[in-house]
Amino acid sequence: AVKETGKADFRFYEEGMHEQARERLALTVELREALQRGELSVEYQPKRNLRSGALAGVEALARWHHPTRGDVPPTVFVAVAERSGLIHALGEYMLHSVLQQVCDWDAVGTRVDYVAINLSMHELSRPAFVDTLHRAVKSFGVDPMRIRFELTESSAMRQPEETLRQLRKLRSHGFALLIDDFGAGYWNLGHLRELPVGTIKIDQSFVRGSAYNLADREITEAIVGLAKKLNMETIAEGVETEAQADWLRDMGCDIGQGYFFARPMTADAFLQYLKPSMTAYAH
Ligand code: C2E
Ligand code: MG
Ligand code: MG
Ligand code: MG
Repeated sequence: AVKETGKADFRFYEEGMHEQARERLALTVELREALQRGELSVEYQPKRNLRSGALAGVEALARWHHPTRGDVPPTVFVAVAERSGLIHALGEYMLHSVLQQVCDWDAVGTRVDYVAINLSMHELSRPAFVDTLHRAVKSFGVDPMRIRFELTESSAMRQPEETLRQLRKLRSHGFALLIDDFGAGYWNLGHLRELPVGTIKIDQSFVRGSAYNLADREITEAIVGLAKKLNMETIAEGVETEAQADWLRDMGCDIGQGYFFARPMTADAFLQYLKPSMTAYAH
C-alpha cells in the first residue's frame, strides 16, 4: 500500500535509492575487476541417483570471495552481472573452468559423467553464444554430452522465439538442457512442451515444504508424475534429510541433490569426497 510521505520521508527514501544505485555500481565495477583478475572460483555439488546412490553428475556453482566484503552470494552477483552485461564474461569464465576441470578429472581417472552449468537466459541474447560454446568444447576435446545447462529464468522470457531457436541449436549440438527451479518463478507448463528439455529440477521450496505441508507434497508428486508422462527425468534440489531422500525416491523421483548428500565444494574437496566410498547413500 502506498503511504502519504512527508518531505523528510521522501528525502530519506531518495537517499536510500541513491545508496542502492551506488552500491550496485560499486559491485559492478568490482565484479568486472574480479573477473579480470581471476578472483572468482567454482564449487561442485554432487547429484545422486536416489535408487542406486550412484553419482549422477555434478552442478557447477560460481563463487566470489571478495577481499573486503567476504563471500558475495551468487544470487546477488549474478543479478549484477545480468544487469551490466557482465553475465557473458561470467558465463565464459564458468564454461572454461568447467571444461578444464573435466579434463583434469579425466586425467586422474575420476570419471564424472556430466557437469551442469547454470545458464542465465540473458546469455542467449548473444547471437554467437552457441557457436562460441561449440568451439570451446571442441578445443578442450570434451564431449558436449558431458556438459548440461540448467536454465534459470529470473524474469519472463523476453524474446521467446529467438530464445527457443537458440536452445534448439544448443540441443542439436549435443548439450542437454534442464529446467531449473521448476514450479517457482517464471517457468510454466507451456515451456515443458516447447523447450527441448529432458530434465526438470523441482524447486527446493517444494522439497523443503514437503516435510511440513500436504500441498507441497502433492505438488512435488504432481511434477514427478507429469515429468514421467512426458518421459522427462526429475531432480529434486535442496534435499536436506534422509526422510526427504527416501520419500522422493519412493514416489519416483530420479535424482537428489542437497546438503543431505553433500554441500557444494571445491574441486580438491570433491576429489577427497569421492575417495572413501563412492556410494555414501547406497542402501
Ligand atoms: P540454483 O542453480 O537453483 O542452485 C541451487 C542453490 O541451492 C545453490 O545456491 C546451492 O548452494 C543451494 N543448495 C544446494 N543444496 C541445498 C540444500 O540442501 N539446502 C539449501 N538451503 N540450499 C542448497 P548458490 O550456490 O548460492 O546459488 C544460488 C543461485 O545462483 C543458483 O541457484 C543459480 O541460479 C545462481 N548461480 C550460481 N552459479 C551460477 C553461475 O555460474 N551462472 C549463473 N547464471 N547463475 C548461477
Ligand atoms: Mg542450478
Ligand atoms: Mg535450482
Ligand atoms: Mg535456485
